[in-house]
Amino acid sequence: MVGPRALLLRAVIMGPPGSGKGTVSARIVKHFALKHLSSGDLLRDNMNKRTEVGILVKSYIDQGRLIPDGVMTQLMLSELKNADQYHVLLDGFPRTVPQAEALDKVCPIDTVIDLDVPFETIRERLTARWIHPASGRVYNLDFNPPKVPGTDDITGEPLVQRDDDKPETVMKRLKSYEAETKPVLEYYRRKGVLESFSGTETNKIWPRVHSFLQTKLPEVNQKEAATHT
Ligand code: AMP
Repeated sequence: MVGPRALLLRAVIMGPPGSGKGTVSARIVKHFALKHLSSGDLLRDNMNKRTEVGILVKSYIDQGRLIPDGVMTQLMLSELKNADQYHVLLDGFPRTVPQAEALDKVCPIDTVIDLDVPFETIRERLTARWIHPASGRVYNLDFNPPKVPGTDDITGEPLVQRDDDKPETVMKRLKSYEAETKPVLEYYRRKGVLESFSGTETNKIWPRVHSFLQTKLPEVNQKEAATHT
């Protein structure tokens, strides 16, 4: 229990796929006591458990398309009902203006952390990842390349790209982000709750996000905080 509801932080983290949002969110959760609600994790969990929602959303996710607003909003708002005693960090939701409007009616947002990473940096990052499907070994052409291009170091078998990481899917996801989500940033900018953090390296963006959140929330573990990891 943290206190009266009015004092609870209702934050959203935003940033295109590949912007380092996963890393920054994990660090936020490590440093601050808040409940992290990721729409992508929630959807993947539903898919793994083959729930009704999971079956419905699979084809959208495989094609890099957004889930219809009604389905998404219902799913997230029902999660939020269970979180009225905690500070909350929403991740991946809202992604469209109708989602943001529906959320505002039930749970007004007071802080939006926007990771503003250039398009080209993201394209390079996302298309650099290759995997060995049998073992799950992951290579990155920039900082962890295979010894022989295109093959797994241990078995010599061919590497593949996840459907999500193929250039055409990456472009589709980035375009969808541009089209659907930029207006959400505008929506929050107008409400005066948007905090943008620009840069090309997560390790340089994170300390600024961290300092900003320290002005809003008590830190969980001061020793870890000193390392800024
Ligand atoms: P993520 O892990 O956040 O990139 O989400 C993976 C996929 O889930 C996205 O590419 C979308 O297909 C879907 N998704 C996640 N959040 C939302 C949302 N708020 N609205 C619509 N679709 C979503």
